[in-house]
Amino acid sequence: PAGSAEPRIVQLEEAVVNRIAAGEVVVRPANALKELMENSLDAGSTRIAILAKAGGLKMLRIEDDGHGIRADDLPILCERFTTSKLRKYEDLSSIGTFGFRGEALASISHVAHVTVTTMTGSDECARVAQYSESKMLGPARPCAGTRGTTIVVEEMFYNNPTRKQALSKESIEHAKVLEVVQRYAIHYPKVGFSCRKNSSSVSELTTVGGADVTAQAVISTIYGQNLARELFPFSVASEDPKFSCTGFASSPNYTSRSLTLILFINNRLVECTPFKRAIEAVYQSVLPRHQHPWVYLALQVDPAAIDVNVHPTKMEVQFLHEETIAQKLQETLLAQLQNMGGSRTFISTL
Ligand code: ADP
Ligand code: MG
Repeated sequence: PAGSAEPRIVQLEEAVVNRIAAGEVVVRPANALKELMENSLDAGSTRIAILAKAGGLKMLRIEDDGHGIRADDLPILCERFTTSKLRKYEDLSSIGTFGFRGEALASISHVAHVTVTTMTGSDECARVAQYSESKMLGPARPCAGTRGTTIVVEEMFYNNPTRKQALSKESIEHAKVLEVVQRYAIHYPKVGFSCRKNSSSVSELTTVGGADVTAQAVISTIYGQNLARELFPFSVASEDPKFSCTGFASSPNYTSRSLTLILFINNRLVECTPFKRAIEAVYQSVLPRHQHPWVYLALQVDPAAIDVNVHPTKMEVQFLHEETIAQKLQETLLAQLQNMGGSRTFISTL
């Protein structure tokens, strides 16, 4: 019969669906790390220590001192769509946490081996549990520990050799891991971050955390005085459209071969191409050709103006009044740069 050549539609097996979905959420170790650090921040941690082996592919360990996970919740921790942060769809418009969809740990458990050690403030001892493909492997075992959570992710993409091969060199993966930590460390100066590579006892990054630590101090710790002394603070705000924005930008005396834009919108680390262009355009008038600035920008917009329910790896965001906000930012930066830009023009004409 003629119809027999047409392909049949069948429902994919759950394991296949999960593995496909996981591969979209966790593209590389740095994505997994971002999710895990956001969980630690959601848990109110004041200290987050990261260890990465082989660019995070062999092992990623995130240790925090947050509120911990209840022992009763451990069996479903890595199931898809299990979360403590969202109860109904309407809550999304006012959500204050990074997470809400309960997909990160599930995804990670589909591409790697996951071990969780955790203890809440009211627990007598810590518990350790292992996970694979969303499932807890055997019951959680009691162990020694302190309040907080340590998550160890091992052999990432052990079940996906193509992905593993397609990834950059370990050194590049490590650089991406470190970059995520640096950026969160700047935006959360009161949290103490550390990042260590392999079994080296020396941290590549250490911030002390605490109530008096400022973003500027952290930038100086991470990038050194040469950048820090060339930064000036800026802030812009408006009622209509409602937004406020603060940050640090490099003076015309600082130049780099590529642009660094560290952008947080409503405390999420994001990418926004129109903002990148707007900033490059401002600096074009004060920097030599092919030279670029360094800018850290923390923008707060009305939560209703930005859709948080985009795919977790979609770091590129869109929001209402993007152009107006970019324009106001440009005006502020340009005015400040022109004020200090004089010295450069003066020196270069000597
Ligand atoms: P989501 O963050 O979207 O809720 P996740 O898969 O990232 O989903 O985490 C699932 C749940 O596990 C969280 O809702 C939270 O209750 C708990 N959790 C994960 N990591 C931590 C942590 N470091 N400290 C405390 N609780 C955590
Ligand atoms: Mg999460």
